[in-house]
Formats: sequence, structure tokens, C-alpha cells
Amino acid sequence: MNNKPLILVVEDDPPVLNLISTTLKAHEYRHVSARNGAAALLEASSHNPDIMLLDLGLPDMDGTEVIEKIRGWSNLPIIVISARAEDSDKIAALDAGADDYLTKPFSVEELLARLRATQRRLALMQSESPQQSSVFTNGALKIDYAAGCTYLDGEELHLTPIEYKLLCLLAQNVGKVLTHTFITQKIWGSSWENDIASLRVFMATLRKKIEPDSEAPQYIQTHIGVGYRMLRVD
Ligand code: CA
Repeated sequence: MNNKPLILVVEDDPPVLNLISTTLKAHEYRHVSARNGAAALLEASSHNPDIMLLDLGLPDMDGTEVIEKIRGWSNLPIIVISARAEDSDKIAALDAGADDYLTKPFSVEELLARLRATQRRLALMQSESPQQSSVFTNGALKIDYAAGCTYLDGEELHLTPIEYKLLCLLAQNVGKVLTHTFITQKIWGSSWENDIASLRVFMATLRKKIEPDSEAPQYIQTHIGVGYRMLRVD
């Protein structure tokens, strides 16, 4: 019974909260709920949930503020829920340390898929030794960090230094949506912040080298207006 994951649902809109709670109950999850940011922080610290579902528009504080506070003491996976009009808030939330997002209105299937993906990522993080593995594999893709080499189907890839850094950053955050700002800051430093056009060019050349079909990317997913995510390929 207690093996069921505990989800903290932070949502002030009763119908949405009700939909989420009902879905969780029907699918082998336990949950606790909070209707504002202050209650969310209290529940997060007292219940130690496995995953947090966080609405960004809360009555007492901004959802991003909740994330910043939680990230001060916890790596708890956070999936933010935002309305379409809150696109810039969604990006700020990801930059503050949220792991994924759902855009309202969302279906029950989408909600469950996000939860499963987050659980898989969590399980993977827990199974990996604290000392980061020196080889990353994902489907036919392999990165040998020590040697600085990448392979696709055993064939060595010839990546430029920027492409290699980009690929490593995505691989180290596999399953997580990385925003344009996060990526450009990590790759080029703050002076390049928001140079999304350049990022797009490097991403395109990287994809040509690693994606069997660059029209239907398998490894790197585009989140329009938000950023990119490396998917786990079986
Ligand atoms: Ca709300």
C-alpha cells in the first residue's frame, strides 16, 4: 500500500483539483493537496511527496516562487500546470527548477503519461551510482565521456565541440525539458542568453548527425517556444 507513489497536488481551482484527485485515486497513486503556495510548502516538507503537481497561478504566491523555495532544500520532481496564457511563466518555472509541464486543458492520459515519465526518470536517477557513469547509452546512441567520443550504432560521430557539449547537456538531463535560456547559458555563458537563433542552428546540425530521420526526431524533442528534451529511446 505504501509503495504507491505520493503525489502532492497544488491547485486552487476546485474542478481541476477534483479531476486530478479522482484520476490519481483511480490509478494507484496516493495524494495530498494544497490550495495555495504556503500550504504547498508546508505539505511538501511534512509529507515528503514523490512528485509535485503545481499550478502556476496560485492565490497567495507565484508558482515559480514555490519552486525556488523548494529547490532550496529538495530535488522533489515538480510538474507545473499552466494555462496557455501563462507561457512565459511556464518557462520561468522550468528555469527555476521545474522538471516538466502540462498545459491546461490537459487530458487524463497526458497527466498519467507525465507522471509515468517522471517516475521512470526518478527510478533511473536512484539506480545510478552517485559517481556519474562514464558512459551514457540511449538506444543506438552512446557517449563515452572520458574519451570525449560519441557513437551511433557503433560508428563514431564527428561532432563539433559545441554539438558535443549540447549533446552531453541533453544526455545528462535525459527526460527533462531544458529551456532555451538554460541551454544557452550552460553552453555559451550568460552573454549568449536568449540567442535562440544560434541554438537552433547548432541543434539542427547535431540532429542531422544523430537522428536517423531529422524530420521525425527520435532523440531530441522540440518544445516550441520553450526548449528541448532528450527522450529515453528503448
Ligand atoms: Ca490557479
